[in-house]
Amino acid sequence: MHKGLVVILSGASSVGKGSIREKLLADQDMKLFYSISETTRPQKEGEVDGKDYYFVSYKDFAESVKNKELLEYTEFNGFYYGTPKAQVEFLTDKGKNVLIEVEAQGVGPIKLNIPDALAFFVMPSSFEELEKQVNENYKDNKASIEMRLNKAKMDMELAPLFRNVVYNDDLDKAVAQIKATVMEELEKRGAGKD
Ligand code: 5GP
Repeated sequence: MHKGLVVILSGASSVGKGSIREKLLADQDMKLFYSISETTRPQKEGEVDGKDYYFVSYKDFAESVKNKELLEYTEFNGFYYGTPKAQVEFLTDKGKNVLIEVEAQGVGPIKLNIPDALAFFVMPSSFEELEKQVNENYKDNKASIEMRLNKAKMDMELAPLFRNVVYNDDLDKAVAQIKATVMEELEKRGAGKD
């Protein structure tokens, strides 16, 4: 049996990764399973533990790091986020394709562990557009706006390192572009079908 394909979706905060992710997961052709991250960030209204994230304490997160249970982890806006290794391995060993969503720094360590993972970097149509979105998304938390914009600027400088850069000026177009590359890769591996 072929190992499943790992697809990494990355890009700055508020660039629309979440909407792209939802559409990719809903697509039945790619059959992507979502890699649920661990985080110490508090659960937001509407989020489901074990679906959106595993919401854990700092102590439990530190245990996961110490036991080398994470493929990668990062600190973002004062909270920790990490990709559980066992979950990704369990799925890919069963031939399932996995979607991992991470901020830009998470991509390198994943590629080191899984060199044939297919990484996408989502860019906003312009920095002004991203600025507008960040201001809208975090209007109740003004302190985090500047931090997010600074990080977004740094993240966007990493874009040239990515073979697959996707501009999210049109959601459906961005999803279609990612899907075309994923399907091509699955065809190449002969794993597009059951
Ligand atoms: P949020 O708090 O908005 O859900 O996520 C903040 C940022 O962390 C987003 O850019 C998201 O893609 C990223 N993120 C979520 N899970 C992980 C993870 O496991 N590892 C890394 N490196 N970033 C993550």
